[in-house]
Amino acid sequence: MRSIAVVGASLAGLRAVETLREEGFTGRISLIGDEPHEPYDRPPLSKQILTGQVPTANLALSKDGLSSLDLDLHLGRRAVGLDLRQRTVELDRGSEVGFDALLIATGARARRVRGVEDLDGVHVLRTLDDALAVRAAFGSKPKVVVLGAGFIGLEVAASARALGLEVTVIEATPQPLSHAIGPTMGGACVALHRDHGTRFELGKPVDAIEGHGSVERVRLADGTAIDADLVVMGIGASPATDWLEGSGLTLGNGVVCDATCATSAPGIYAAGDVAEWHNPVFDRPMRVEHWTNATQQGMAAARAMLAGPGRAAPFSSVPYFWSDQFSARIQFAGVARDATEVRITGGSVEERRFVAIYRHGARVVAALGFDSPRMLMKYRALIMRGASWDDALALGAAA
Ligand SMILES: Cc1cc2nc3c(=O)[nH]c(=O)nc-3n(C[C@H](O)[C@H](O)[C@H](O)COP(=O)(O)OP(=O)(O)OC[C@H]3O[C@@H](n4cnc5c(N)ncnc54)[C@H](O)[C@@H]3O)c2cc1C
Repeated sequence: MRSIAVVGASLAGLRAVETLREEGFTGRISLIGDEPHEPYDRPPLSKQILTGQVPTANLALSKDGLSSLDLDLHLGRRAVGLDLRQRTVELDRGSEVGFDALLIATGARARRVRGVEDLDGVHVLRTLDDALAVRAAFGSKPKVVVLGAGFIGLEVAASARALGLEVTVIEATPQPLSHAIGPTMGGACVALHRDHGTRFELGKPVDAIEGHGSVERVRLADGTAIDADLVVMGIGASPATDWLEGSGLTLGNGVVCDATCATSAPGIYAAGDVAEWHNPVFDRPMRVEHWTNATQQGMAAARAMLAGPGRAAPFSSVPYFWSDQFSARIQFAGVARDATEVRITGGSVEERRFVAIYRHGARVVAALGFDSPRMLMKYRALIMRGASWDDALALGAAA
């Protein structure tokens, strides 16, 4: 193997490239990314970048600078096609990059409400440029409406409230964050926000985003109109697989991979937000949009690529994410989707400091912590070991 191409110059792609070099790969590495920036960290975009607490210069992801990695770098270039037979990635403006092995790390793209492309003041938040545009808009003290009470939407709301802006969060489902942390615990996040003056319209789908030239209001399906000078859409993200359509690679909810991050085509791997891989810990396919997963899976995919088929280790992981809202650190480990019971094992929602664990059958499958990092990490380790619900309760009782 003499040449490796990595498409997606962000967290998963960069960590993969660093790992390839650390593991001694001396061949050509082509890193292709459609953003003009060198790889940067996204979590601060909805937090300290919006509030102005961190300068953009601090976002660089590369530990020692990209030049130390000796890359064939293609920034500001978009991959538009993949030829499995020729083993080439086709770039916009006509050129091609050949490879012996390929890592797909194109992440996810923010979903948008259609039909508002011509209206100023309507934003998404996925990239540095998105964040700088929202921050600039905050400067004119707008009335802010956030569409979607997911984690990114709630972080934008918290940042706007921290700056003293009037904020309304609109969420179509009555119980926000149900899919991520379960319906009961979603209420704890809403309570935290209400403490800080965020308004909510829950269980109310949006009918229209209205305005002349610029956004003026958001109209809900029940007819309510909410004044808005700035709308941020936090309605989720979709895996960036458009450029792979028709390539022959198996696509599902992302690029479909086995447990070693290998795709349906030999020598082609995927990692990060774009990858739907078979996670041995839960014995099922999953696609995870979290920072820690992108980091660890990027590294694992690079090692799998170097090891080759039959020798690569599976990537086993308990999904983990954190979210900073106001002064609270919210952390979640595991999978809440199939939980049949949720129990608080320490603290309380009223104190805004607690740990809750989630059960499926006889197993503990997830844990949520509000300002409880030590316990959360202990539970994550238990979930990784496939521990029982009773073991998790005992850990809580002993704390
Ligand atoms: C605002 C925000 C806040 C977040 N906060 C948290 C947090 O607090 N905690 C947490 O756990 N996670 C958080 N995350 C999630 C975390 O940042 C992501 O999971 C992580 O960035 C995924 O890394 P990735 O490399 O897989 O994909 P991405 O970071 O999405 O990078 C993919 C890159 O590929 C590029 N690309 C896409 N298509 C092409 C193409 N065809 N050709 C070339 N390049 C292409 C994209 O433009 C992008 O630069 C946050 C994400 C966002 C957006």
